[in-house]
Amino acid sequence: MIITIDGPAGSGKSTVAKLLAERLKVRFLDTGAMYRAIALAVLRSAVDESDHDAVAKISGTVQIRFDGTKLILNGEDVSSEIRSPDVTAVSSIIASNPHVRNRLVALQREIGLQGSMVTEGRDQGTVVFPDAEHKFFVTANLEARARRRQRELAQKGVQQPVSSVMEQLRQRDERDETRAYAPMKPAEHATIVDTSELSIGEVVELLVRRILGDSTAAK
Ligand code: C5P
Repeated sequence: MIITIDGPAGSGKSTVAKLLAERLKVRFLDTGAMYRAIALAVLRSAVDESDHDAVAKISGTVQIRFDGTKLILNGEDVSSEIRSPDVTAVSSIIASNPHVRNRLVALQREIGLQGSMVTEGRDQGTVVFPDAEHKFFVTANLEARARRRQRELAQKGVQQPVSSVMEQLRQRDERDETRAYAPMKPAEHATIVDTSELSIGEVVELLVRRILGDSTAAK
């Protein structure tokens, strides 16, 4: 069984996807981490992130794999490094590159063949797993997302005013929603969940009810 969770940054979808996977005892796939790994490889090279051909070349040669929840880039654990603000900004720029997307889509489908999982990203229900059994689009208003992201950053010791976090999210959403190739949008028949006024626990319960309810109905 494949369950897709797509949606914008700060919507709570990563936390929800992780908890949902634990509840259902299936694997969890963080596809954003894969885009971040390529962004890091680009940042470490002398290549400009908007140079399509050079970025395509890098994405074609790097090795990306998960070791549990760790992201391994060319044999090195880069799980912490891929969360830096620089990598975050560059990830949504290289994500518009069709070569990068094709490479990662193929890898994600390969991982999907190994059994049931909850997978989260921007295009999981629309492009990567269009036949997934359950599809969700998890979102929240910009202010709620910015406040959550600000709290996450503060926990890592990074203090930023909510207005600048909001502006970064807005720019990233715009790039993700308007790119020509695999833009972020709800998949057809996806359940849209607005988490602005909900706790993480409430969202997980809602998804579990939907999934178990659906499968009971299908029997
Ligand atoms: O989800 P996360 O914030 O880690 O994703 C980082 C960036 O990677 C996003 O802003 C988006 O541009 C890109 N991404 C994507 N498709 C995915 C997952 C992430 O384009 N399936």
